[in-house]
Amino acid sequence: MAITDLPSSASAVVIGGGVMGCSTLYHLAKLGMTDAVLLERNQLTSGSTWHSAAQVRALRSTRNLTDLIRYSISLYSALEEETGQATGWINKGSLSIATTPDRMIHVRRQEALAHSFGLTATAISAGEAKERWPLMNADDVLGAVWSPDDGRVGPTDLCAALAKGVRARGARIFENTSVLGVTTEGGKVKGVETAGGFIQTDTVVVCAGLWSREVAAMGGAQAPLFPCEHFYLLTKPVPGIEGNLPTLSDHDAGLYIRDDSGGLLVGCFEPLGKPIAPETLGEDFAFQLLPEDWDHFEPMMAGALNRLPALETAEVKMLLNGPESFTPDGAFMLGETAETHGLYLGCGMNSVGVASGGGAGMALATMIVEGAPPADLSGVDPKRFSNAFNSAEALAARAPEVLGKHYEITYPGRQWTSQRNLQPTPCHGVWTQHDAHFGQVDGWERPLYFNKQSDPALTFGRPDWQGAINAEVMAAHTSAAVFEQSTFGKILVSGADAESFLNRVCTNDMAWAPGRMIYTLMLNDRGGIESDLTAMRLKADQYRLFVGTTALKRDMAWLKRSLNPGERVAFQDETQDLAVLGLMGPSAPDIARAVGVEALLDLKYFGHGEAVIAGRAIRGARLSYVGETGWEITCASSDAAFVLKALVDAGAKPAGGFAQTSMRIEKGFLAYGHDMDTDLDPLQLGLSFAVAWDTAFIGREALEARRQKPGQRKMATIVLSGHDVWPHGNEPVYCGDKIVGMTTSAAYGVRVGAPVALALLDKDACVGPVEIDIAGARALGTAQFGPAFDPKGARMR
Ligand SMILES: Cc1cc2nc3c(=O)[nH]c(=O)nc-3n(C[C@H](O)[C@H](O)[C@H](O)COP(=O)(O)OP(=O)(O)OC[C@H]3O[C@@H](n4cnc5c(N)ncnc54)[C@H](O)[C@@H]3O)c2cc1C
Repeated sequence: MAITDLPSSASAVVIGGGVMGCSTLYHLAKLGMTDAVLLERNQLTSGSTWHSAAQVRALRSTRNLTDLIRYSISLYSALEEETGQATGWINKGSLSIATTPDRMIHVRRQEALAHSFGLTATAISAGEAKERWPLMNADDVLGAVWSPDDGRVGPTDLCAALAKGVRARGARIFENTSVLGVTTEGGKVKGVETAGGFIQTDTVVVCAGLWSREVAAMGGAQAPLFPCEHFYLLTKPVPGIEGNLPTLSDHDAGLYIRDDSGGLLVGCFEPLGKPIAPETLGEDFAFQLLPEDWDHFEPMMAGALNRLPALETAEVKMLLNGPESFTPDGAFMLGETAETHGLYLGCGMNSVGVASGGGAGMALATMIVEGAPPADLSGVDPKRFSNAFNSAEALAARAPEVLGKHYEITYPGRQWTSQRNLQPTPCHGVWTQHDAHFGQVDGWERPLYFNKQSDPALTFGRPDWQGAINAEVMAAHTSAAVFEQSTFGKILVSGADAESFLNRVCTNDMAWAPGRMIYTLMLNDRGGIESDLTAMRLKADQYRLFVGTTALKRDMAWLKRSLNPGERVAFQDETQDLAVLGLMGPSAPDIARAVGVEALLDLKYFGHGEAVIAGRAIRGARLSYVGETGWEITCASSDAAFVLKALVDAGAKPAGGFAQTSMRIEKGFLAYGHDMDTDLDPLQLGLSFAVAWDTAFIGREALEARRQKPGQRKMATIVLSGHDVWPHGNEPVYCGDKIVGMTTSAAYGVRVGAPVALALLDKDACVGPVEIDIAGARALGTAQFGPAFDPKGARMR
């Protein structure tokens, strides 16, 4: 369409005409929003999409991300029939080889994961792998996993087909139309400025690829992504390549390989990528590539020559170098931003944009038209990133590592190495004196365990740090330990309507008198859990909410967007101002006496009160996330190190995040993002104690309907019988030959002396013997409702 035909208003404006923008507009139109428009400043696909290798491999880390690609596959194979335009979809499967024993475990775990998600995946021998890829040198191959449903697509043809589908439904695409500004008012989208005039809209979708950070900033929102160079080698025809072959992944060498017009396409995820200064990719960067860099590619070439001896004599067509954007955690961003209501992101695709694009565009359109995604996508919610990551320096340092991590073995406890110490906790200095091993969560540097002897070796088996965990858990179980929980988000909710407001957005009864802690959930109107939190009622008109570390922005946005006009409620983010220390264990009362806070001893379970430690004002709350008696102590961040020192001097042993995780799993305490998400409801998860049915909370009717619906999976605990078995979560659970569920979290339970997993299981499987598939081996266990340790909670009360 010509820029002169731009409408003056539209229900939604999609910015960017790559696969993400085309798919989003296609699905908006399909869902009936036919006056939506797409604005592309150059031509469709001219950004990253046109030069994509366009592999489509379905398996992702979660079922719902996998389902997005499954949806893409069905869309890409059906679009030609719908539109008459071929997409170039080729279904030849994919082959993932292993050349080290740990990679073999990794691929067997992936095979098991695929089975959990209902994908076909089969472990095959090196010989069978070679039969499927005769040109491969399989001498060093230990085995492989074969996934027959994967394939690839022609990215330009795909977008042409989507565009035809768009036009057939009456929605419009404007090429050569730059978006120059996004207008907002009171934190809400009002419209977009373009070279052809202003378009009024309350919904803007940023699908501007690697330019999305700048485009989102026009609307006052953050989109932390950064471009890196991304390479693949193309050769002229090679003897022995006939027709199409499966995609061959040699992740140990950082390579993916496929045929291309009778030749080879050899792409890589090198150990450390090359960031690109964004200003070098100006607005006229259309259908362009970056210079070849053979020095950078050389180590990858060596691996490629080993895998494909035929490359030695193949004639090189080019070393393609195209830009692609990467996010701080390697997952894309899909959904509404925290900062600006009505501003959505569909970007930061981390080199899976073509594979995910069909499903991601569908999910984004569903969020916009129906108000919620088709299934939980909280793991890719743009609101998950802390502000600390949204600096060009932090992103430029992290993005190259993201490329390297893409194919790395996902060992438990694996950590990022770039951009550490972005946000030290208030007690960081003290922890370093106790030889803490730190991990990064949402930019925060959190102690994972103490008395680190050396850098730990990573393994799927007994972790190097298990001895430290054992000692820390036993300290909390037999004497006293102190955990730092300062990374919790803290939101002060104040105002005359604070109680009635929270009673509407929270499931539990929030009308307790000041002095009380309240564990509660926030539900969406489908009855799924948006957040779990603990509220501290400070005054009649004031509560402090403690939310998950990565939930702060998301929960703040949820609270603000749940406010009714005229409601007298204010929100304040106190996360940086306050520290939290958990003093836990049977000797915690002795320590309380030793530091002079006898007042805390009189608190009832779930009560809180003020006291002074080391001359610093604190507030202690009688509750526990680890199942031992004690207090969660809140104080000013600037006082935290003094308070901590007093507790340690009085005998509390430092304990880290790994010990806490092991203890919470033994106690059946759930963690959002692992055991809980927006699809699951409190009844499935055994959290009905946090639901006050006599209050009118958001999601109540849907929850009522779910209560009547039998057959939902339930949360159970599985205690395994072997000692040297190491479940890590996300493993399928079997009864006989039938998959009956999946583990959600797992750890060695020090207090029960056995590995313990939390698992969502078919209701009939929740009690009795089950088996967990750990990298292809079945581990025996017993499923039960309720926690593995101290089911009545006697120790913490
Ligand atoms: C070498 C290489 C290999 C790859 N291989 C694969 C693969 O095998 N499988 C896979 O799934 N993915 C792969 N990818 C990644 C994939 O290509 C990208 O994830 C995907 O194309 C991103 O699509 P997009 O729509 O987000 O961005 P883009 O295609 O970059 O589209 C963004 C568009 O926004 C437009 N725009 C920007 N600013 C404005 C503005 N102000 N106004 C209007 N328009 C604007 C741009 O002009 C551009 O056309 C590969 C990438 C590279 C570089």
